[in-house]
Amino acid sequence: MSVVTRIAPSPTGDPHVGTAYIGLFNFTLARQAGGTFILRIEDTDRGRYVPGSETRIFQMMQWLGLTPDESPLQGGPNGPYRQSERFELYGDYARQLVASGHAYPAFETPEELSALREAAQAAGHVIHVPSRDLDPAEALRRMDAGEAAVIRLKVPRDGETVVNDRLRDPIHFQNIEIDDKVLLKADGFPTYHLANVVDDRLMGVTHVIRAEEWITSTPIHILLYRAFGWPEPVWAHMPLLRNADKSKISKRKNPTSVEWYQQQGFLPEAMLNFLATMGWTHPDGLEIFDLAEFGRVFRLEDVTLGGPVFDQAKLRWYNGKYLREVLTEDDVAHRLHAFLAAQKSELPLDEYFRAVTRLMTPRLEVFSDFLDKTGYFWTEDYAVNEKAQAAIDGARELLPELASRLKNLPTFDAGSIKALFHTYAEEKGLKLGKVMPPVRAAVAGTLESPDLPDLLATLGRERVVGRITKAVS
Ligand code: GLU
Repeated sequence: MSVVTRIAPSPTGDPHVGTAYIGLFNFTLARQAGGTFILRIEDTDRGRYVPGSETRIFQMMQWLGLTPDESPLQGGPNGPYRQSERFELYGDYARQLVASGHAYPAFETPEELSALREAAQAAGHVIHVPSRDLDPAEALRRMDAGEAAVIRLKVPRDGETVVNDRLRDPIHFQNIEIDDKVLLKADGFPTYHLANVVDDRLMGVTHVIRAEEWITSTPIHILLYRAFGWPEPVWAHMPLLRNADKSKISKRKNPTSVEWYQQQGFLPEAMLNFLATMGWTHPDGLEIFDLAEFGRVFRLEDVTLGGPVFDQAKLRWYNGKYLREVLTEDDVAHRLHAFLAAQKSELPLDEYFRAVTRLMTPRLEVFSDFLDKTGYFWTEDYAVNEKAQAAIDGARELLPELASRLKNLPTFDAGSIKALFHTYAEEKGLKLGKVMPPVRAAVAGTLESPDLPDLLATLGRERVVGRITKAVS
């Protein structure tokens, strides 16, 4: 059996990290089996529809390298891939269930329903919809004559529905506790349940891998599969991503839009690697691995359910690791340059830019930190903070001589610069801690900067000498 997986996001806002997370596992499972990974847009809830959201979901998937095999964008043999374009279909399926006795037209008004619901709640059972007891042929006739009706699933009143989830023990739902869910609304629009099941079936989906929050919908979906006489797909409900306080991940506590991470200069590789560790660990204990390696060793059965925390600090750590240990220097320089260009920076990708990048990479976790940390590399107008000014003021005697020695140093590289400081300190009977900080303060305006000889070598002789001279004048 070929494996077909899918994600079925609703275009209701920013492209969510949860969609990327579920996308990663679905993409991988399909790739491992040489199967198909589908992106379907579930846009039947017009009230929550956000224009542009769909495009941004594609862009997110593309950025992460999780490009689907079939989607509204690239099409495919199972299209259309937007539920709003499959609209006609669902009514027929709903009627088919009415004909087979698994669903019924229901004519209750919203007011009647809320009264029924109140009574049912008080009595402690699910609502009994009176239309359930109508003669089906008669009910269909009324509906066809134009009377406002929805179509509801006729949930059996006895027995249980068992969800066999790949990641859990069987979950038992008592049918008597399941509502007769609406399948088709009065305006002819399907609900999530009907459209989701019909589309998964028509698109040949074999594995439904989705977030835990859908688990209570699954018995309804199983009842639908049975009612249609279709085999169930494999179910796997992934653990929800959580905030640090273990609540479901939310915008207020964690940025949840993948675009935010993109704008901060996170690398897609780091994001994927991090997401792969949400509910799963590499069998050899590897922390850093790419998508291909993930695909090589991942097994759905190994997903663990303890609520994985989407920890910003950990994601930053991953990103730093990729910058320092995975990407080449050249790659970092190019990507950083592209990131800055998108932020309207006009820094050229020249030798100097590469040298500054090389120097700063060990101190960088995300690209968005770069300009803040490197201001003094790009302008002679850099700010000098108080501590730095004090260091300069305390060394007015030393600085001119140091400037002139630096000016005359035969080769201006880190090794020679370091030796120069040592010789100078020794000659003057001073500690290095007296000699170096004022120079640092003069060339960078701060006492916090990379290793001084490296810093000076990167800035270059001309800037260094000029800046020290200017600082004491
Ligand atoms: N449209 C649902 C969502 O927004 C799909 C859930 C599912 O995968 O079945 O996530």
